[in-house]
Amino acid sequence: MRPEIERLVVLDREQTLVSHIESVLSWDMETYMPPKAVEERAEQLAFLEGLAHAKLANPEMGRLLEGLGSTPANPMGLESLRPEERSYLRALRLAYDRATRLPAELVTELARSTALAQAAWVEARAANDFAAFAPHLKGLIGLYRRKAACLAPERPAYDVLLDLYEPGATEESLAEVFRALRKDLVALLGKIASRPQVDDSFLHRPCPESRQAAICAWAMETLGFDQARGRLDTTAHPFTSTLGTDDIRITTHYHPEGLASSLFSTLHETGHALYELGIEPPAAFRRTRLSEASSMGIHESQSRLWENIVGRSAAFWEAHYGKLRDLAGPALEGVDLDSFVRAINKVEPSLIRIEADEVTYCLHVILRFELESDLLSGRLDVEGLPAAWRAKMAELLGLAPPDDASGCLQDIHWACGYFGYFPSYALGNLYASQLWDRMKEVLPNVEFSLSQGDPGPVREWLRERIHRPGSALLPGELVEKATGKALDPAHFVAYLNEKYARIYGF
Ligand code: ZN
Repeated sequence: MRPEIERLVVLDREQTLVSHIESVLSWDMETYMPPKAVEERAEQLAFLEGLAHAKLANPEMGRLLEGLGSTPANPMGLESLRPEERSYLRALRLAYDRATRLPAELVTELARSTALAQAAWVEARAANDFAAFAPHLKGLIGLYRRKAACLAPERPAYDVLLDLYEPGATEESLAEVFRALRKDLVALLGKIASRPQVDDSFLHRPCPESRQAAICAWAMETLGFDQARGRLDTTAHPFTSTLGTDDIRITTHYHPEGLASSLFSTLHETGHALYELGIEPPAAFRRTRLSEASSMGIHESQSRLWENIVGRSAAFWEAHYGKLRDLAGPALEGVDLDSFVRAINKVEPSLIRIEADEVTYCLHVILRFELESDLLSGRLDVEGLPAAWRAKMAELLGLAPPDDASGCLQDIHWACGYFGYFPSYALGNLYASQLWDRMKEVLPNVEFSLSQGDPGPVREWLRERIHRPGSALLPGELVEKATGKALDPAHFVAYLNEKYARIYGF
């Protein structure tokens, strides 16, 4: 390898070290940190974010990239370099350009403000007090507009932010996909509503936390989560965080009134963790930028595939339902496999996104997509958000949230500054069903393996095709390479129609 690339790897690894240390502190903040520690923690995170930024915006990195022919217009650099070196230069060039366009003072301010906003959100949601969170949200919107203006002043702010999570996505392209999707989902909902509703009452039987914890541990192991490279903890809002290449943390939440929420959030987060654990760049690029995910939409495709396509399938539970019933005890007593599979696939418009079924889920995402775009562009002001939320909820799902805690305060994302992140969830569903269709083509026995208790073929195919390349491939390239074509929402719509025709009998 050329010495310039070796030097870039050294500099990049230092930056990765700092961001993983930051992840340790953020993870602790959301899991075990006592509440009064928040102010100093915000300072700690702001300091490290500044350090990580300085490492990345280092002029030496710029000189090295240029010396290797990597420029904003030609990020992959010299054609004489090896393909993995060129992919590496592209990933690094993108990160370097973003870093050098952001003033250091803005970077630390974003870290400090989002840490404080998250703490304020936790309290505001618990107290159902939107007014207490509103000033934080207003401040963050201003800061993220500034961030977008620094990154690409000529483009609309929302497009610039979308691009951070899904390279290449624009508001217009997503709006087009979502318009068609919404029509298909509403039509399917209509068919489902014309059929007798599924009984899922037994899923609300109380189940003690100790039993749910045992179920979650079993679920992680069954999917193949290496417990020596990660762990499970408890938070209000489940998430996955990468603290190191061999340290992936996931969280879940236990509701005493039923086991479904912790079980499916654990399957979901395990899907995210398997992705992170499966990224394996060539040895020379380990623990660099190539060890990162391709995009958040691809990340969500992994969690949604395990949670829904596998975790809510009849084949998977054919193999595992006996074990689950043993672990659940009285909560599933007298419930047969068929009733269980129907219950975990019950479709019903509901208020909370993370509890939503597969059919209504994307409608929750479309609601947030439209509102955050309005907030960023200034078409909607923060004071008007609760009312706008209620109006969209009525329009898309026909529901009226009784309060803001189950309305616009339900998600932590905006408090973290994740404006432009929500569409990744819908894209994840679309990618996942396209990958699943491809897997069934090339591995005709994949569903049979699941029914025999072996998720190995699914995991290995995903590891080879999707996980291993990390950020060496952009999401469009990855999907094209894995499935032979560009993203096509028809796979998701067909998957839903076929599955729910079976569940609801139409
Ligand atoms: Zn997720």
